[in-house]
Amino acid sequence: MSNNYFKNFPDKDGFFNEYGGAFIPPHLETEMNKINDAYFSISKSHKFISELRNIRKHFQGRPTPVFHCNRLSDKYGGQIYLKREDLNHTGAHKLNHCMGEALLAKYMGKKKLIAETGAGQHGVALATAAAYFGLECEIHMGEVDIVKEHPNVQRMKILGATVIPVSHGLKTLKEAVDSAFEAYLKDPETTIYCIGSVVGPHPFPMMVRDFQRVVGIEAKEQFFEMTGELPDNVIACVGGGSNAMGIFSAFLEYEECNLFGIEPAGKSFKTGEHAATMALGKPGVIHGFKCYTLQDEEGNPAPVHSIASGLDYPGVGPEHSMLKDLKKVTYDSITDKECIDAFYELSRLEGIIPALESAHAIAYAFKLAKKNPKQSILVNLSGRGDKDLDYVVDTFGLPE
Ligand SMILES: *Cc1c(COP(=O)(O)O)cnc(C)c1O
Repeated sequence: MSNNYFKNFPDKDGFFNEYGGAFIPPHLETEMNKINDAYFSISKSHKFISELRNIRKHFQGRPTPVFHCNRLSDKYGGQIYLKREDLNHTGAHKLNHCMGEALLAKYMGKKKLIAETGAGQHGVALATAAAYFGLECEIHMGEVDIVKEHPNVQRMKILGATVIPVSHGLKTLKEAVDSAFEAYLKDPETTIYCIGSVVGPHPFPMMVRDFQRVVGIEAKEQFFEMTGELPDNVIACVGGGSNAMGIFSAFLEYEECNLFGIEPAGKSFKTGEHAATMALGKPGVIHGFKCYTLQDEEGNPAPVHSIASGLDYPGVGPEHSMLKDLKKVTYDSITDKECIDAFYELSRLEGIIPALESAHAIAYAFKLAKKNPKQSILVNLSGRGDKDLDYVVDTFGLPE
């Protein structure tokens, strides 16, 4: 990949080859153009950049460390390293783009941030950003996820956000996106829809990627400092794909780094029992952009499942869709069962309780380490598992 990659992708209309773009009603297109223009001028301003740098260091606690897993490497082979986004303030990578989006909103004079949330991590991160900047915040969340991710619901409320329960359809992430879009359409002048991943209409997949690039920039430098080399393999879980784009972005130009995006294989590959969009989906339009999608016979988004609420989305970022076709990234999947085993394994062998989303990437690292015991593996540990404790223990029990 050339050095011009970030200049060429997306193109000026938001396309990553055939994917991305903005398939939205005209009045929303006007708003997206305004956001795009504001982002282009603001993101180049010294004031914006230095304010964001300051926030990352003093508020978020960046840089997050890279950690070598001694016991896991001994057991599975390979040299396994983790980029510790679980140590980013609020416990996941999401604050990286939320602080960027909220700072942009402030510069644009917006009063209120609106968003959807799956596991509640994006909602918590955005509510945190809203509190920091003194903006209002409204979070749409499926009722199933509200029950499953109760501690995060409490966090959002404590932070001053309004949580809107979504009770139609499967009552999970996809419906929450629909509901948040509707709310935003009612007042796009004073509100801004802060998308929670590298998805949605242009310019969001580009902006969210750019705000997440800090993960890859830090990780590459830290890994090199520790080992004198680049990692042989980089692994990240893929829901919409923001933590994966964040870390992959620093390694795309190196042919010698193998990149792996891991999706949830759930309970089985039957429709409704997984969210392996790349493995089983086909190109289509969802939520205003083109990407790989899981669809039913009528062409509507198919029902999806994963034990990780942050991964159960029937679409995926347009940039990932392009990278799959270009074979720059290998996309594979991990089952619920493998995810739970990895969740306990990382907890008991290294003292780090991962988010269920991140445990998908960890589980894949074990497989890869067994296959290539001489290689190094850098995993993006996208978040911590506190939010998942009750659900995991109640559903699966403690291991022997
Ligand atoms: C939301 C979330 C994800 C999935 O989102 P991406 O945009 O694919 O990164 C992964 N891990 C954690 C901890 C999350 O909260």
